[in-house]
Amino acid sequence: MRSSLKLFTWFGIPVHLHWTFGLIFLYAFYIGGAEGGGWIGILLTIGLFVSLFGCVLLHEFGHSLTARRYGVQTQDIILTPIGGIARLERMPEKPIQEFLVAIMGPMVNVVIALLLLLIGRLVYTGVEWNYFIATIYDYFSPVLHFFGDLIDVLLGQLEPSDFYARFEEGWPSTEAQNIAIEGELNVGSLLLLMPILLSVNLMLVLFNMIPAFPMDGGRVFRALLAMRLGRVSATKWASRVGQFIALLFVLFGLLKGGIMLVLIGFFVFSMARTENNMVQLSDFLSRFQAKDILRTHFTRLNFNDWMQTPIDLLRSGLERHFLVFDMDDQLMGALTEDRIAEAAKSGNTSSTVADYMQRVRAVHLQDSMGYIYQLLMQEGEPILAVVDEYGLKGVIDREGFRNFMRLNGI
Ligand SMILES: [Zn+2]
Repeated sequence: MRSSLKLFTWFGIPVHLHWTFGLIFLYAFYIGGAEGGGWIGILLTIGLFVSLFGCVLLHEFGHSLTARRYGVQTQDIILTPIGGIARLERMPEKPIQEFLVAIMGPMVNVVIALLLLLIGRLVYTGVEWNYFIATIYDYFSPVLHFFGDLIDVLLGQLEPSDFYARFEEGWPSTEAQNIAIEGELNVGSLLLLMPILLSVNLMLVLFNMIPAFPMDGGRVFRALLAMRLGRVSATKWASRVGQFIALLFVLFGLLKGGIMLVLIGFFVFSMARTENNMVQLSDFLSRFQAKDILRTHFTRLNFNDWMQTPIDLLRSGLERHFLVFDMDDQLMGALTEDRIAEAAKSGNTSSTVADYMQRVRAVHLQDSMGYIYQLLMQEGEPILAVVDEYGLKGVIDREGFRNFMRLNGI
């Protein structure tokens, strides 16, 4: 992949760093230095970011290695400033498998958080341990207050305007600082970093488990719905919910000045739409075969014809691409609109169809429409010959395919 740097390969999966990742280091210089920490502050911040993205990477391997158990390979893992992306070649279609692939990412972060808690418990005692726990509490107290107050609003115990005022101000969190000052603690780097890393891992779990399809929580949600509704309806509902939550992200980000959240909101919104369209499309295509859209009336060109013949056909008729035959009426290839236009432009009247024709792909009457979609729309074939055991039956071209889709409201 261009615009990214390959770091290493682990478990056979290449790990790439997206170029925008460099911004993270600029940011580290900015906040590490701004808090008056000087070089130590900057190094600590970089150290924190590196360990943090290590955790994100392990999260992605949680997805990839689970997917591998179901025979799904991972093309690569890309680290970007807004998180990691494991590019799976596809999602397993069985709901239980998608459920497990989605949930094993956040589970990795749960395990990391538990390990850090265990290490903290073994290493720290007394006031240091209190500081350790208070740091974690400080991270979550705004979240806890937010939801606590939100529930109060819903129960009618808090005025919405008061809630908004608190939301604007932000909820205070100074527990750990007080403990450090009172206990005259020398907050060493590890004592500082470990509880922060633990908290961020838990934040990652909470954030990823928000049911905003196609985020992890949204995939879990879709998989659970799919067990009852089937994959197609499940995707429709999951992506609607996902888009609604994505809009909340954007709104929240704009109100609180969280540009990352705004970006993630836009990303989730468009991904939800894309995935839903893909699932609806493949469901639609699975109901048809080549025989349902083949055209049996088509003009046959001979490879010895002058190019003037197809040029005239293109000017006066509706067909855009043609099949070419030899003297024994055997199919030889295809002549496409682009090539005919090329010939018309060159003004070379002495050339024949054989000079401009290209090979043609054949499909069987009973080939699935999904396969035809792939050939026409993804591999760029303009025209296909449709055959059965006895020979040529007709053609399917891109224009005919598009009309068919349009008539069916896709
Ligand atoms: Zn994930």
